Amino acid sequence: MSKVLLEVRDLKQYFPIRKGVFNRISGYVKAVDGISFKVHEGETVSVVGESGCGKSTTGRSILRLVEPTSGEVIFDGVKLSSLNKQELRKKRKDIQIIFQDPYASLNPRQTVFDILDEAMGIQGIGEKGNRRDRIKELMHTVGLGDHQIDLYPHQFSGGQRQRIGIARALSVKPKLIVCDEAVSALDVSIRAQVLNLLKDLQKKYHLTYLFISHDLGVVRHISDRILVMYLGKIMEISEKEALFENPGHPYTKALLSSIPSTQIDNKKERIILKGDVPSPINPPTGCPFHTRCPIAKDICSKDIPKFHNLGTNGESGFSACHFVENGVLQYKN
Ligand code: SF4
Repeated sequence: MSKVLLEVRDLKQYFPIRKGVFNRISGYVKAVDGISFKVHEGETVSVVGESGCGKSTTGRSILRLVEPTSGEVIFDGVKLSSLNKQELRKKRKDIQIIFQDPYASLNPRQTVFDILDEAMGIQGIGEKGNRRDRIKELMHTVGLGDHQIDLYPHQFSGGQRQRIGIARALSVKPKLIVCDEAVSALDVSIRAQVLNLLKDLQKKYHLTYLFISHDLGVVRHISDRILVMYLGKIMEISEKEALFENPGHPYTKALLSSIPSTQIDNKKERIILKGDVPSPINPPTGCPFHTRCPIAKDICSKDIPKFHNLGTNGESGFSACHFVENGVLQYKN
């Protein structure tokens, strides 16, 4: 196994709710509630879950785009919380993010050349006035033409704009790229092309990805391991094959059953979850999934489940469910 590039320890991201004339804190939205995981060099770990489960906040908290409430993020042996603003800016060269909406994240008043030149300039890569060849090379790398470098973002299609976003991330030679719903806004055929591009770039530059998506079909193409989140907590972390063949958590089972049958090998019985996702302001006691879980028992509303090893030798992952026995989820009503 390659070295651990990213380690997240007990990360919490609570957003205060303020009320009244004195603006007093009346509660917290527990967007991320004590999650821990590791990502190895060259690996793609995907974070999945319904909207509002905390997956995007996790990505942003790791990068300190929002300052975490508590917990540690260790990147390449360095605790990110210990860095001052200047040190963090330097470190960001190694950790880049690609957003869902490339149009919103690209300055409409800058040409592609300006966008990439600025990103490289901030990180001190190359010399001012001397980066044009490198930028042309980057355009080719992401499947665009060097004749396009003086165009503006609005002159590109959605898929091409996302390629510019990828070129910007690559321009500073990162080690880790956080892809936050990076292909969600694209048409199906373009989505496949961008996913293939990301895979090719990973091989070429030995990149590591933290891939955040609500779409298990997409995640299946790109992941090595998958982390399933619900109400700010991790429900399951598993190797991709193990998760799709033998989900270790009732929530994962429900998510998988909602993928259209053409996207999975065997038609599976659809599991319809009852009710809505509870509020992260006042999450349920015990297992956070107990209000919607089809196999919940009394213990589920009382005791927080510990992580249990999955796989007969504990080799495939972990599940936070009381009803995992000998590495297998006992899914009986
Ligand atoms: Fe369902 Fe209980 Fe397992 Fe939670 S602990 S997933 S409520 S069976």
